[in-house]
Amino acid sequence: MRASNVPVAMPYLMEPADMSIPEPETEEVTKTRISCDGGNLGHPLVWLQIDPKIGYVECGYCDKKFVLKEDAGAGH
Ligand SMILES: [Zn+2]
Repeated sequence: MRASNVPVAMPYLMEPADMSIPEPETEEVTKTRISCDGGNLGHPLVWLQIDPKIGYVECGYCDKKFVLKEDAGAGH
């Protein structure tokens, strides 16, 4: 085993592009009206309303994205 076998530079793998911006959490929901309290982050409980035409809503506190599942019941 020789040290020269170890690659010294792999720039495209070292690029921290995906690590600089943490991806917001996404949750599928079946109701247009949901609440978010931030989970681990923790913030005041807020109620969010999903516009069915848009199909999702993002929490203003923690940027968590709530995606309305297509099979959500129309009657609520
Ligand atoms: Zn939140």
